[in-house]
Amino acid sequence: MRLRNVKGSREAIADSEFTINDFKEYAGKWNELFENNNPIRIEIGMGKGKFITELAKNNPDVNYIGIEKYSSVLIRAIEKRRELDIDNLLFIRMDAVEIEEAFGVGEVDRIYLNFSDPWPKDRHAKRRLTSRQFFERYDKILKKDGIVEFKTDNRPLFDFSLEEIPETNFKIDNHTFDLHGDKDAKIFEGNVMTEYEEKFVSIGNKICKLIASRRI
Ligand code: SAM
Repeated sequence: MRLRNVKGSREAIADSEFTINDFKEYAGKWNELFENNNPIRIEIGMGKGKFITELAKNNPDVNYIGIEKYSSVLIRAIEKRRELDIDNLLFIRMDAVEIEEAFGVGEVDRIYLNFSDPWPKDRHAKRRLTSRQFFERYDKILKKDGIVEFKTDNRPLFDFSLEEIPETNFKIDNHTFDLHGDKDAKIFEGNVMTEYEEKFVSIGNKICKLIASRRI
């Protein structure tokens, strides 16, 4: 994705009450910050935050944390967040390689990965958010029966994920190569479109989705 540098975005994010800069201090203590015991669900690589913002509005009894590497896009999510009267949505600006430092063991109830960067070169495979290296990280922060949901229109990345995930402590519970092709299917239930999903569906790309959980 080509990113335009939005002037002053890093400073605006640091000052925002919705962005947690000292996130490592809250590892294992996010419920204290939210002041409730509701489950914590995160989206890694949330971009401008349409998906997670909509989930937070629809589910006041769930706490959401959006994670994004780049200030230039995170600032757009913060702008949207400011207009809302909700108390269950926070953001962290960080690279997800640090995810284990942001959450305690088993603290996260669900992880959403939407239209993650494909990193097509083999030598970059470990940077893919569905690589075994990332699932080892998710294994630490996700609660025992927690799940990972992944959507993409990128078929090579999806095929890689279908092969890679069973090599970890996780298994694929459900998957589809055409999410919008069967709106009665269980996997489509409650689908919330992301920004990229809207764009790709409008040009006719098929959306793939998988749900993974621990093998136990
Ligand atoms: N999830 C959004 C959607 O579906 O509309 C945005 C998708 S965009 C293609 C991927 C986003 O993930 C970008 O904003 C990128 O900066 C972010 N991202 C990629 N790798 C990341 C990482 N390791 N840690 C945090 N964010 C990451």
